[in-house]
Amino acid sequence: MFKKLVSLDEAKQIIARNFSLEPVGKENLQLKQVYNRILAEDIVAPLDVPPFNRSTVDGYAVKAEDTFGADEDRPLALKLCGQVRVGESPKVSIEKGTTAEIVTGAPLPEGADAVVMYEDTVQRENTVSVHASVSKGENVMKAGSDIHKGETVLRNRRMLGSYEIGVLAALGVIDVKVYKRPRVAILSTGAEVVEPGEPLPTGKIYDINAYALSAAVIECGGEPINLGIVEDESQKMETTLKKALSMADSVITSGGVSVGPTDIIPEILDKLGKPGVIINGIAMKPGKPTTIALVNGKPVFSLPGHPTSALLIFQLLVRPVIVSMAKRPAEEPRTVKAITRTKLFAARGRRTFVTVYLTKNKSDRFIAAHVPLGLSGAITTLSKADGFIEIPETQQFIDEGEEVLVHLLKPSLY
Ligand code: AMP
Ligand code: MG
Repeated sequence: MFKKLVSLDEAKQIIARNFSLEPVGKENLQLKQVYNRILAEDIVAPLDVPPFNRSTVDGYAVKAEDTFGADEDRPLALKLCGQVRVGESPKVSIEKGTTAEIVTGAPLPEGADAVVMYEDTVQRENTVSVHASVSKGENVMKAGSDIHKGETVLRNRRMLGSYEIGVLAALGVIDVKVYKRPRVAILSTGAEVVEPGEPLPTGKIYDINAYALSAAVIECGGEPINLGIVEDESQKMETTLKKALSMADSVITSGGVSVGPTDIIPEILDKLGKPGVIINGIAMKPGKPTTIALVNGKPVFSLPGHPTSALLIFQLLVRPVIVSMAKRPAEEPRTVKAITRTKLFAARGRRTFVTVYLTKNKSDRFIAAHVPLGLSGAITTLSKADGFIEIPETQQFIDEGEEVLVHLLKPSLY
């Protein structure tokens, strides 16, 4: 019969006690490769950004005081002494009473401290009439005003997205130290499961779990290694699990952990290393057969075969472990309050997770409607659901119209 179940809270404590959750290492990557990775060092600016005082407009570089008193009707005349182009060191310097043409992004020539916009000038041969005064620093972006040389611009553990990658590029940093992604070996089990793309004889189903779980691993910063489908046969399973443990930092299997005669995984995990199985069954619904082991320092998660259950357990128990091994910032649960559309029932004595989709009523409140988990093999549940409601072990139901907290499963609502 069924083994002794632990509660979900006990399961979380056992995981916290047994798994070290340390990052698996660091590596140096090229700037092009670091999108979505986690920085493993502080970045101290090796230079000023911008590296020089630059003009922010097209116009004329001047000494601001030479323009004081100029206005539309009473222009002041300056002598044109040259031109400053982008990408070049200025070949002129600005003396009192002179000016040089300058374009946006070009370095301010020596002696100049402001730029008058084209629109406020009239040029005739070598004379520029200035029709507006500018103050010191006007239309100039000062060297180091964006980033100061020596400043810590990005800190260890920052996730590298487009903005951060832009900062690194601005600093000329091309070699970036990031945390290694934990490698997660994934294998499916069962004689009925075949690889998508292969013929599908009667009685067979395509492998959903390996693909869905691989994507879920990527979503939380891991690197999946899909080892394919293994028959429920002890020798083959043992060989594959050994291989998985030798090449990866963690292993996820799906199927083969309920009480059927072909459910052989827990026994093999115990044989493969210490301490072996640390959780064998959790008092929750779905997810009761979930088995978790630590084999020579590596977390192994054996999830139920039912794809919807496998993915939900992944979110609840596996995801935080991989996030932590990837050194990603811990994820805050994202929740919204909603009103239940119907009465929702719990499984007796088990923490129950009810998947729901959300709509809004006329007064702009969320309504949570049950998306049934579906029979074994259903996958559409989680693609239709926006989140789940958690019903405590001690509670038998949630009434229609009750206010509940919905844990969101996706970045946005449709
Ligand atoms: P099991 O836990 O192995 O008894 O599997 C429970 C249910 O999930 C069965 O209906 C299986 O056919 C189904 N199942 C198991 N593994 C997969 C998989 N990789 N992809 C899709 N369905 C699966
Ligand atoms: Mg099976």
